[in-house]
Amino acid sequence: MKFNTKAIHGNQKHDPSTGAVMPPIYQTSTYAQKSPGQHKGFEYSRTGNPTRSALENAFASLENGKFGLAFGSGLAAIDAVMKLLKPGDEVISTNDLYGGTYRLFTKIYEKFGIKFHFIGFRNTNTLSKLINKKTKLIWIETPTNPMLNIIDIEAVVKIASQHKILVAVDNTFATPYLQLPLDMGADIVMHSATKYLGGHSDVVMGALVVNDKDLSEKLYFIQNASGAICGPMDSFLVLRGLKTLHVRMQRHCENAAIIANYLEKHPKIEKVYWPGLKTHPNHKIAKKQMNDFGGMLSFSTKGNYKVDAMKVVENLKIFTLAESLGGVESLCGHPATMTHASIPKEEREKTGVTDSLIRLSVGIEDVSDLIDDLEQALMII
Ligand SMILES: *Cc1c(COP(=O)(O)O)cnc(C)c1O
Repeated sequence: MKFNTKAIHGNQKHDPSTGAVMPPIYQTSTYAQKSPGQHKGFEYSRTGNPTRSALENAFASLENGKFGLAFGSGLAAIDAVMKLLKPGDEVISTNDLYGGTYRLFTKIYEKFGIKFHFIGFRNTNTLSKLINKKTKLIWIETPTNPMLNIIDIEAVVKIASQHKILVAVDNTFATPYLQLPLDMGADIVMHSATKYLGGHSDVVMGALVVNDKDLSEKLYFIQNASGAICGPMDSFLVLRGLKTLHVRMQRHCENAAIIANYLEKHPKIEKVYWPGLKTHPNHKIAKKQMNDFGGMLSFSTKGNYKVDAMKVVENLKIFTLAESLGGVESLCGHPATMTHASIPKEEREKTGVTDSLIRLSVGIEDVSDLIDDLEQALMII
């Protein structure tokens, strides 16, 4: 089955009791049992719920994986992965990680005796040098947030597999429409389904997809034992969102390409970060591992004046100034004071998150309206 068909039908069945084409919102916490332990596959909704199961099956199908798990948020999904580890274990991750992931790692899991290394992945030598017997997990994001750096997933997997280290890929920015990390040998794919998978800025949710049965059982155990599940209503909404993922992503990519080219020529713009541009330092890897280049882009205003970037985001009208991304509507953000405020200034500036950086989540509106909006906002500075 091709991706566009899978988005609608992948691992989905009509509701067995009524034939309902969409799975009903099974708004129930518990399920009647005939005799103790004799039930129809569901006993308690933390452990399993039919609406959630339908969604988890759809996640697995889209990521070309065998097992899907849905969580109450992206961070809850990451948290479940971290619970595979024990004190003394080491994790290698990227130095321009999503701010919330960085906070979870350094403020929660360091305290429990897990050691983190944050590195640039441009040169795989740095990665090889850090690996030792305690290294248990490599956690990467590609494209990264907000600099849109691309990490060569196959190159990382090649090194990790020599040492039997798990590779987890946060696929939130790319989505399975653009990139399939499990096919490239990664062990775990993670999503903030809040973003493109849900796609309508109305749900907070997380997802994991894996191929290995043992690993899936460990993660299912953690999901049930820790309890960070999502509810049936949210499961229904994200399942509905998934059915248009391919058409939405196609338009996100088209619009972002036009905007990236427009901004690159703009006299007030210093730099545009979008992996589809030939000038992007990782354009070749992006071309190799992605089907298109996504709807996220960042740019910096000339002069490096924080105040200029601030004025631009304040004056955009169609682009709403807001956290988050991946919805049908265009959003803009100022990473230094918003999504990346929890990362120390020296740390974030090293990776390019300066005060003049603006991040766009390009929506699926008419692109000429989006360009007009940028044009008028850039006139002000
Ligand atoms: C939003 C986001 C997360 C966290 O997900 P939540 O659903 O907000 O908990 C993790 N990684 C990336 C890349 C994100 O954009």
